[in-house]
Amino acid sequence: MVKEIDVLIIGAGPAGLATAIRLKQRLNAEKKDASVVVIDKEPKLGFHNLSGGVFEAGCLDELVPGWREGEESFFKQTVEIQNDELYFLLPKAAFKIPHLVVPKLMNHIGDYAVSVSRMAIWLGTVAQNLGVEIYLGFSAKELLIEDGRVKGVKLMDLGLDRDGKKKSNFLQGETVHAKVTVLCDGSHGVLSEQLSKLLPPAKNPQVYSIGVKQLIKLPPESAFGNNRAIHTLGFPNRFDVFGGGFMYSMPDNMIAIGLILGLDWPYGDLNEQQELEVFKTHPLIARFLKDGKIVAAGANTIPEGGYYSIPKLFTNGALLVGDSAGFVNMEKIKGIHYAIRGGMSAADAILDALTANDFTEKILAKYEINLKESGILKELYHARNFRQGFKYGLPIGMPLSQIQSFIPFPISIEEDYKGTKKGRRLNRKKQDSMDRAQFVALSGSSHDENQPSHVAIPDPELCQQCGKFYAYSCTHFCPGEVYRQKDGKIVLSPSNCLHCQTCIIKCPFHNITWTPPEGGEGPRFKYL
Ligand SMILES: Cc1cc2nc3c(=O)[nH]c(=O)nc-3n(C[C@H](O)[C@H](O)[C@H](O)COP(=O)(O)OP(=O)(O)OC[C@H]3O[C@@H](n4cnc5c(N)ncnc54)[C@H](O)[C@@H]3O)c2cc1C
Ligand code: SF4
Ligand code: SF4
Repeated sequence: MVKEIDVLIIGAGPAGLATAIRLKQRLNAEKKDASVVVIDKEPKLGFHNLSGGVFEAGCLDELVPGWREGEESFFKQTVEIQNDELYFLLPKAAFKIPHLVVPKLMNHIGDYAVSVSRMAIWLGTVAQNLGVEIYLGFSAKELLIEDGRVKGVKLMDLGLDRDGKKKSNFLQGETVHAKVTVLCDGSHGVLSEQLSKLLPPAKNPQVYSIGVKQLIKLPPESAFGNNRAIHTLGFPNRFDVFGGGFMYSMPDNMIAIGLILGLDWPYGDLNEQQELEVFKTHPLIARFLKDGKIVAAGANTIPEGGYYSIPKLFTNGALLVGDSAGFVNMEKIKGIHYAIRGGMSAADAILDALTANDFTEKILAKYEINLKESGILKELYHARNFRQGFKYGLPIGMPLSQIQSFIPFPISIEEDYKGTKKGRRLNRKKQDSMDRAQFVALSGSSHDENQPSHVAIPDPELCQQCGKFYAYSCTHFCPGEVYRQKDGKIVLSPSNCLHCQTCIIKCPFHNITWTPPEGGEGPRFKYL
């Protein structure tokens, strides 16, 4: 069956929901009728939305005026950052970096710590109240492209067994035709990747970090206190691993703690879930975590290449918004407000297209003009060489990051998988505090095991070489422990998958394929 709609939005994160809200608000105000449909592969809103969560909230005053008012408002679930500290960590010591030398953009005072999964739940309600249709549990499988124009998407079939045979509950994936398809499927989204491959390439390839995060409930008298944000550089990272740690106050005596690591790390055996446990042993951090109880955990990638890695953002019948467009500024470590402002810019361009009944890129090009006017592209341009400088390691990356905006050309960067170096090992001792099985349990991730595997290794022979040179990397870097090595072969446990996309990005041989599983399956992030 083919469904015909006006505007189809893939992904119910901040980007997709902001697009839907703004578009429906403007359609309603102008008394115009058009169907605005959001689909997400997860069975509930917020299940696959994860962020550190320090948020520049001004965009919400524009998108949902009055959002701060009322006892039940989303604002009540936020914590204002009043105390912001940056530390450099050595294994047993912490040095506070004076505010005077911290770049202004890394200042988070006046921002709000939020749970982006809670934000998605709330934005979903706002959207539905305006008349947006949201369908959950539907995975978009592929883009439909005809005569150089995106015509919609094909959804995944439901009810196939592990051999690909139809089960009694089989439902063929629908074909959805739309005048405009907006891709908001997040970091390294399957559909946005399909589209990006057809568009002119950006100056640099996209590069990514993996962020691992836990939510910890602390006793009321905890040493961390309220309204506080801490960022760290150094330990547990060596100088050739980009990234750092964070801790933020959350409501109800909770803190968000996490580690963000650039996926161009050289070590074949780096396991980011274990690195977070190592981070938590640092005396500065361990002191804050005393008597804390971990209540949730998860991981996701972050597109961190910045301005020069942003692909062309529009084509006939389609737009890219949010993480799928690469709207993240690593100088600020922020993407949520760009996702929201990007969605608003996309909505305004789509309204013009609906009014003109013209969905070609000639009209949709207004999206880029709107992005410029909204200030997003200016901010991203300011940080245009920030991430690239760190490819030379922290001692060169730090000073370079201070002068990066004066460098008159793009510093080039390579895809992350090329960063893994033959024979390089971290050789970390296993941490007993938590393993990946416990981490997966706290993420709530689950899949029906009797369905076709959504991860595959096309050439198992290459894994032999990988074992020799790169320590079977996927058995270390996958936060869900989907890959295990047995007798030189990789055994898969796809039901553990957190949908973070690290494996496609980091396998040194580009030897992993990942397709969305049946809709309704995957992580069940809570409060992340
Ligand atoms: C560890 C970490 C820390 C961060 N810290 C901060 C911070 O402090 N401040 C900040 O501003 N930003 C931060 N960011 C970045 C920020 O979280 C993102 O930029 C932002 O959430 C992106 O929103 P989005 O809507 O583009 O994508 P997402 O929130 O990822 O939404 C994508 C949606 O698409 C759905 N989807 C994907 N594929 C399909 C498919 N095939 N079919 C149907 N649905 C699909 C997913 O289920 C998901 O709901 C952080 C990110 C991470 C990972
Ligand atoms: S799938 Fe990739 S990362 Fe995993 S062992 Fe094989 S080649 Fe290495
Ligand atoms: S299989 Fe891939 S997408 Fe799934 S958790 Fe592991 S690295 Fe992430």
